[in-house]
Amino acid sequence: QAKDRGRNTYQFFTEQHDGKMERRLNLEHGLRKALKKNELFLVYQPQVQFHTRKIAGVEALLRWNKDSEGIISPGEFIPIAEDTGMILPIGEWVLKNACMQGSKWHQNGFDDLLISVNISVRQLLEESFVDRVESILIETHFPASSLELEITESTTMESMEETLPVLNRLREKGIRISIDDFGTGYSSLTYLRQLPVDTLKIDKMFIDDILTDPKAGAIAKTIIDMGHNLSFHVIAEGIESCKQIDFLLEQGCMYGQGYHLFKPLQPEELEKYLQENMVIN
Ligand code: C2E
Ligand code: MG
Ligand code: MG
Ligand code: MG
Repeated sequence: QAKDRGRNTYQFFTEQHDGKMERRLNLEHGLRKALKKNELFLVYQPQVQFHTRKIAGVEALLRWNKDSEGIISPGEFIPIAEDTGMILPIGEWVLKNACMQGSKWHQNGFDDLLISVNISVRQLLEESFVDRVESILIETHFPASSLELEITESTTMESMEETLPVLNRLREKGIRISIDDFGTGYSSLTYLRQLPVDTLKIDKMFIDDILTDPKAGAIAKTIIDMGHNLSFHVIAEGIESCKQIDFLLEQGCMYGQGYHLFKPLQPEELEKYLQENMVIN
């Protein structure tokens, strides 16, 4: 009997393992064809100035409408795209489409709207990245000063020596740089001094707890003060209540992004809000 149970347990684990492997292989395979099959699209989440409720910019967020399975979240497929190198063509597609959309909005009169695009460190480390970005800007008639690239703290710091010159070249072209998920990596203050950065985005993890955990609140406050002292813009991610906005405003943080303000929107939906909440900067 014990032997049977042992065998069943073993079987259970292998099946579970196979299930995960199968899903991954399935996604990996699907991802290779997703671009050609037109299954990728972008949604845009507004970045809002709290006291005026005006939209200063939007973050482009990638979605994958996979034929049989419906919408797959980037949290699941971006790591696979990074491991397989697919992030290079996909990332380029994202950048080009976000700039095309941004250019359209600028032409429609919202010419102060910033577009933020998430960039994987693999893209940054690609030899031709800066040139690619530049030709996309020219091709789409989108101004460099309206494009912000979001780089996550952890991965950028790990390869500072390689990424720093790339970030400097992007910044020289007038492109803005934002450090995403700030507070979850381990940037030393030395790095922050060297990094050509415009914006710090306080990670949702801290924002979630600012009202209930005094330490999370203190960390948020410290990031806000430090960011402002270094002349960075500071923006809070993942705002889900107006009490969080009150707290952030008290600490001097004036910008935020979150479901309480706006969920990520289809371009047409966003356009309605742009009409109402005129763009500021
Ligand atoms: P991120 O750049 O930190 O984006 C913020 C994520 O938080 C988004 O998830 C957004 O939908 C979600 N979010 C915003 N406000 C709230 C809120 O109030 N509550 C909650 N629970 N969530 C909120 P999403 O779209 O699933 O993207 C997840 C991550 O995938 C992004 O994190 C980013 O790291 C990555 N990603 C998304 N699009 C791209 C892309 O085009 N390229 C690359 N390289 N990465 C991308
Ligand atoms: Mg981001
Ligand atoms: Mg983030
Ligand atoms: Mg994140």
